[in-house]
Amino acid sequence: MHVSESEIKSILTRSSGYLRTVCSHSLQGYRGCSFGRALCGVGCYVQHNSWLTRGEAWGSFLEVKINAAEQYLRQQHKERKWAENNRGRFAIFMSSSTDPFVPHEDRYGITRQVLEAMLEAPPDLLILQSHSHRVAMYIELYKHLAEGCELRIHLSIESDRDRLPGLPPPASSVAARLEAAATLKAAGLRVVITMAPLLPIADPPAWFSRVARCADAVVIDHFIGGDGSKQGQRTLRTALPAAIAAIDQRCLALDYRDQMLRVAKNYLPGRVGVGISGFAGNYS
Ligand code: SF4
Repeated sequence: MHVSESEIKSILTRSSGYLRTVCSHSLQGYRGCSFGRALCGVGCYVQHNSWLTRGEAWGSFLEVKINAAEQYLRQQHKERKWAENNRGRFAIFMSSSTDPFVPHEDRYGITRQVLEAMLEAPPDLLILQSHSHRVAMYIELYKHLAEGCELRIHLSIESDRDRLPGLPPPASSVAARLEAAATLKAAGLRVVITMAPLLPIADPPAWFSRVARCADAVVIDHFIGGDGSKQGQRTLRTALPAAIAAIDQRCLALDYRDQMLRVAKNYLPGRVGVGISGFAGNYS
């Protein structure tokens, strides 16, 4: 992993494409992701963004934006006004192309510094999105933040399985992530489990029953329709479909998402979201 530091001129990116309905801005404290060589990195949509990877292999680099918090405070007033005029409210998604809780966060504290800056100047909505149980490490900070803005913590757990045949292990085990979700929820924070992309579930009733206890809602998204390409073409070029098919070929079809939605609704009535609409906070 090649780690570098940079001073950036801007940290708030006005949302476009699929994120447009979810938030007014995205915020990435890092460029690249230390989890790129873990299970989630295999199908990670960000690896196809050549502007972001700049020719480097996904999971091989991490650029630390060391002045992220300072830039947030500098930009937020102007960007809030733009968001209010153009998107209704100042809503930040953190993060869409990295994980805010990569191990290097211990050394650099970029996410912590940005969250502290948000205590001073909160957005209207903050969605914290992570693949790691480490999301629970700033729980006291979240409690303060939730007093000043709507805070939603999205924790990605795509399946009840830790391993898919032939693929690397996850950065954080399913059990550790579920425990983190339960801890955050018990602290009164709003927690959503995001299953995106949905992977084969070994025991759907048992899984959604556990999710119902640990989280406020669940969002299910299939790589078909969810990876930003026609018919999931981007994901079909990765090793993920073969690993899914080795467990159950039927999970490759969009019908599998609809089957899982039906099971989820039995255990989380009114708390199930689908696709980008679910990421935007719409549940039924
Ligand atoms: S944590 Fe997110 S950004 Fe990082 S590799 Fe996994 S899916 Fe991609």
